[in-house]
Amino acid sequence: MEAEKIKEDLIFWRRTFHQKPELGFEEIQTSQFVQEQLKKTGINYKVIGGTGVAALIEGESPGPTIALRGDMDALPIQDEKTVSYSSKVEGKAHLCGHDAHTAMLLGAAHLLVKNKPLKGNVKLIFQPAEEGLFGAETLIKHGVLENPGVEAIAGLHVNPMVPAGFVTCSQKEVCAAADFFDIEIFGVGGHAAHPHHSVDSIAIAAAVVSSLQQIVSRQVDPLSPTVLTIGQIHGGSANNAIAPSVKIGGTVRTLDPQVRNAMEARMEKVIKGVSEGLGGTYTFDYRYMYPVLLNDESLIPSLRETVQSVLGSDSFSISKPSMGGEDFSFYAQKVPGVFFRIGVRNEEKKAVYPLHHPKFDLDEDALPYGSAILAQYALNFFE
Ligand SMILES: [Zn+2]
Ligand SMILES: [Zn+2]
Repeated sequence: MEAEKIKEDLIFWRRTFHQKPELGFEEIQTSQFVQEQLKKTGINYKVIGGTGVAALIEGESPGPTIALRGDMDALPIQDEKTVSYSSKVEGKAHLCGHDAHTAMLLGAAHLLVKNKPLKGNVKLIFQPAEEGLFGAETLIKHGVLENPGVEAIAGLHVNPMVPAGFVTCSQKEVCAAADFFDIEIFGVGGHAAHPHHSVDSIAIAAAVVSSLQQIVSRQVDPLSPTVLTIGQIHGGSANNAIAPSVKIGGTVRTLDPQVRNAMEARMEKVIKGVSEGLGGTYTFDYRYMYPVLLNDESLIPSLRETVQSVLGSDSFSISKPSMGGEDFSFYAQKVPGVFFRIGVRNEEKKAVYPLHHPKFDLDEDALPYGSAILAQYALNFFE
């Protein structure tokens, strides 16, 4: 594999990003590093959407343009690994593997410069702010899919549940629509010994939390996967006082747009009914975040072929969707897209923790695989 020749570089790039993680829209050093590498390789690029970089590799003759996308941002979580390349920044770390995505895309750029498409262009999108900050949508607004217009887009995500050397891809739904909500329940504070003179916001909140779960279990078609998770709840400050208010925050994950569109109203009905029925009031804020990520099924056979040619005949399989969110969905709404997951698990290298875990790490053997698959997939697109 040609990509094995740049494995040392890939590891160096990934570890450079890993040691200096930057949060969404703050990827200044990462972006600078990417630009320097592109310059060295003689690839034209432009800076887009603040820290984003869009590079273009032109083929021997004009033709369609396929885009490859890698995200660059890290997470606001403390790195708990003890390795030489651990995060050097307090409270920030690459725990979603975006350092590897950026390195793999740089690797693909190197491979494509040496082996240019005969006809057509490859656009490389180094994207900021995937983690909840709408980086993809921002780049689209800044015209990343135009000039030249992109006809298809491919992207990948590392997967610590699958061993290095294997790739999985979902047929249609890849990632869920991921929305967020905040609720505040208001009662009337007072002495814990005299509940009848107060309105207990904690008792109301408890009823709201359990009633919300009935939306998923009793109102949504069981064949339409839906998750409603309360991720935080805060209220009260003393054992002997009735709390005047409680804050609740959480997320809704859906694969079916119809279910998604109905969730806000259904939730409000339950929150209103329970809160007012028990003598309290409420506020409810529902925020629509990333839409469901849908693969274009027509792009999958060529991906399968590419993966099998790079990693062997049993290396590719179709997987179930994930209820996680991914802003690649914004590109896939505009142009046919394919998003796949590349295995990075390795027990011996302690690369076993899930994404976003403080000890998440990955098998760097997968770096050249990612570069090779991205580059080869782009080349196959023109055939
Ligand atoms: Zn993530
Ligand atoms: Zn991610």
